[in-house]
Amino acid sequence: MISHDLKIYNTLTRQTELFEPLHKGHVGMYVCGPTVYSNAHLGNARTFMSFDILFRYLTHLGYKVRYVRNITDAGHLESDADEGEDKISKKAKLEQLEPMEIVQRYTIDFHNMMQLFNALPPSIEPTATGHIIEQIEMTKKIIANGYAYEANGSVYFDVEKFAAQHNYTALTGRNLEDLMNGTRELGGQDEKRGRLDFALWIKANPEHIMRWPSPWGEGFPGWHLECSAMSSKYLGDQFDIHGGGMDLAPTHHTNEIAQNIACSHKTPARYWIHTNMLTVNGQKMSKSLGNSFLPHELFTGNHPLLEKGYSPMTVRFFVLQAHYRSTLDFSNEALQAAEKGFARLMNAMKLLDGLKTSATSTTNIQALKDKVYAAMNDDLNTPIALSHLFEGVRVINSVSDGKETLTELDKALLIQLMRTFVFDVLGLKEENAVNTDKIDGLMSMILNVRNEAKAKKDFATSDLIREKLKEIGFEIKDGKEGTTYTLSN
Ligand SMILES: [Zn+2]
Repeated sequence: MISHDLKIYNTLTRQTELFEPLHKGHVGMYVCGPTVYSNAHLGNARTFMSFDILFRYLTHLGYKVRYVRNITDAGHLESDADEGEDKISKKAKLEQLEPMEIVQRYTIDFHNMMQLFNALPPSIEPTATGHIIEQIEMTKKIIANGYAYEANGSVYFDVEKFAAQHNYTALTGRNLEDLMNGTRELGGQDEKRGRLDFALWIKANPEHIMRWPSPWGEGFPGWHLECSAMSSKYLGDQFDIHGGGMDLAPTHHTNEIAQNIACSHKTPARYWIHTNMLTVNGQKMSKSLGNSFLPHELFTGNHPLLEKGYSPMTVRFFVLQAHYRSTLDFSNEALQAAEKGFARLMNAMKLLDGLKTSATSTTNIQALKDKVYAAMNDDLNTPIALSHLFEGVRVINSVSDGKETLTELDKALLIQLMRTFVFDVLGLKEENAVNTDKIDGLMSMILNVRNEAKAKKDFATSDLIREKLKEIGFEIKDGKEGTTYTLSN
């Protein structure tokens, strides 16, 4: 294990703290995943890329990380106040499909997007519908512990009772009375006892498609419950890290914590990490403002706000240029700058192996390495880490131009530093990298045909092959060892 002092900002304590896992050498991390009822959203993509970097960095530091990220495929209603339709059922009705067809389509879409952004898959990706039994069991336990009640086939969490004994708003630090005053009063028909109460189990009305039997009749779980049930199932009653977008903290995560404490008397995660929002030209990204775009629109440039398309790695590089707790503003200028920066970085990476070495070094590579680690250990400060890696780029270019020198040892250190951080930790990769094995195979086939032509003294054909290859950039050379080729750009 690499020695480190990783500090991360903990929303729960509102402090940057030294990261110490519960079990030496192991990290349990839970991140709230997408609700799969529409195409993956760019704001989500930023959140998941940020946690991908945390996952990669913890792994790099030598931890065995169990990374659980769920798929919400039931129970997420349109409004946080237990109102409106289930998002997936609504979409299924609209498109006249089975809800699970919606789930399948958008889960695949989400996975494709994450793969394009080179995000590693989580260790476990549980679904809400796959854990109905666990959610029912948890609800039973919360009722037995006195923190929930049944009303007309639904089960609600009793926030007032919980708040009398525990700090319900610990995560946001909000004043409970203000929160109460900011929530509308219960209507006469409402089954809830208190206005902050939320549903653990919701009775399914006759037209609701996604329904399961339970001790309280047919229904479906409340959205917050799945994360409490699945995180404790796979990571235990207490684990290290819980993450998500910052918009989840006031309701979803606050309720998750309450559910877990009401069930097992323990705050589920020790470190709560939240990523900030995406904005577009300084404005919040939203469908109603017409400034929200989908990842594929970003890649193709097929959107009125985009001057051109940007590759997935340009977008990933762009995301890395902001700290995960700062807002990230999309603009054509910023993306074009990221495109140039990413190309510069990749060009330098290609020069690494060929750098000539000398008896002395003009740069202290160990100091550079220390700075990169220091930035990452400072609450995953990727923009600062990147700026140090660009100092590495400057050194690479200078040594390549013969203006600076590196010893053999420093060259090896620089190669290791750059490859580890650029590829493994930050998750960037070369784009349009051609499959060289396949090209080799194809070329050897063509060169064999040419050799056969030459053997038959059919020089017209062999020369034609040479000329045609040259036109597309393949230079071939006949030598004693056979024919070789080079590809010029
Ligand atoms: Zn969640």
